[in-house]
Amino acid sequence: MDFVLPGDLEELGAEAREVGLAAAKRADVPEDSWIVGHDRQFAQELAQRGWLGMTWPVEHGGGGRSALERFVVFEALISAGAPVAAAWFADRQMGPSMLQFGTDEQRARWLPGIVAGTSMWCIGMSEPDAGSNVAGVRTRAVPDPGGDGWRVTGQKIWTSGANDADWCYAVCRTDLDAPPHQGLSDLVIDMSAPGITVQPIVDVTGNRHFCEVFFEDVPVPADHLVGELNGSFRQIMRQMEHERGGIDRLVSNRRLYEDVLPLADTGDPLVRQEIAALETGYRIGRLLVLRETLGQGPKQFSAATKTFCTELEQRVADFCGRVLGPAATLNDPSVLDDLARRVSRNICYAPAYTIMGGTTQILRNILGERTLGLPR
Ligand SMILES: Cc1cc2nc3c(=O)[nH]c(=O)nc-3n(C[C@H](O)[C@H](O)[C@H](O)COP(=O)(O)OP(=O)(O)OC[C@H]3O[C@@H](n4cnc5c(N)ncnc54)[C@H](O)[C@@H]3O)c2cc1C
Repeated sequence: MDFVLPGDLEELGAEAREVGLAAAKRADVPEDSWIVGHDRQFAQELAQRGWLGMTWPVEHGGGGRSALERFVVFEALISAGAPVAAAWFADRQMGPSMLQFGTDEQRARWLPGIVAGTSMWCIGMSEPDAGSNVAGVRTRAVPDPGGDGWRVTGQKIWTSGANDADWCYAVCRTDLDAPPHQGLSDLVIDMSAPGITVQPIVDVTGNRHFCEVFFEDVPVPADHLVGELNGSFRQIMRQMEHERGGIDRLVSNRRLYEDVLPLADTGDPLVRQEIAALETGYRIGRLLVLRETLGQGPKQFSAATKTFCTELEQRVADFCGRVLGPAATLNDPSVLDDLARRVSRNICYAPAYTIMGGTTQILRNILGERTLGLPR
């Protein structure tokens, strides 16, 4: 085992860091840039550098590069605060799902736009009564009486980026009589289709990145079904592995930590201990992510990786708050300097880390039951 990255990867990381720092200047805040940093122009810049679809096979328009190269690039970009959100969801999970479960025709239709950074995707999984319990999805797709496709009716919620997305990768109920987790299918829905209403939700930081999405008899062509009819549950669980085990779950507020650290009172032994614990946690988290990246983690272990990494991100937010002191409790741009505003925003945002992509409680259940084999 050699934990040192080869020189060419170090260089690639340094290049991505520079690109990321420059792009971060265009964003409102550098934190959480993979989810709130929507910048379509930057998505195209990433494409021009060959940093989208990096690991996908060349015959499908990808870069054919190694998983480690992609890891290095996105660790550097997201740590720097680069606004990658417009490209991130598709690059992280829809593309891989399409490669694994889609048809050649679907890959030819959708992957080039993702690799070019010109098509933006959102994930339509959660519903008002179906968050942790995906099997509770009620948005239904029924055969279109006037054609060979589907008609979709229902509501999604917390759909990140839906207000700017071109496509929604949606989990829909296609068999109303089957047991709950056996009647679901993955459909790609054109967000410009008639019958779709998107209503942004203002989060506690004032941001409007996630949305309610209402579908009213929305037409969806038959060939927009990805993978197996009524086979979504297995496919989505696979997709969640991509969503949970990546570097984005570790470095969302790394830039904030780097900017706050010089202000910490390192003469105080308790502060020093805290920094040592955070730095150790960061290195452990990075190794866990690297194991996922290389496909060497036990099955479903991304649940543990995400839990560990996102709880660390929350500790980083707490630490930054303590360093800044009372100023960090006021999210009022008029009275705060930029760093205090960012810290205060991140304290408000941090609870989301252990909710989105599966809550920590659910992930601990998965870990206990499926990885450790504990009784239910
Ligand atoms: C910032 C952000 C972005 C998001 N983006 C998206 C997106 O793009 N697309 C999308 O589809 N969804 C998205 N979500 C939704 C997210 O996936 C859900 O919020 C999450 O899965 C939890 O579902 P819920 O909110 O319905 O909570 P619930 O499932 O109602 O859970 C409420 C509480 O009960 C606990 N709980 C529930 N069941 C159990 C159990 N069996 N055992 C122990 N505890 C349990 C949970 O841990 C939680 O603490 C996003 C959420 C956030 C915060």
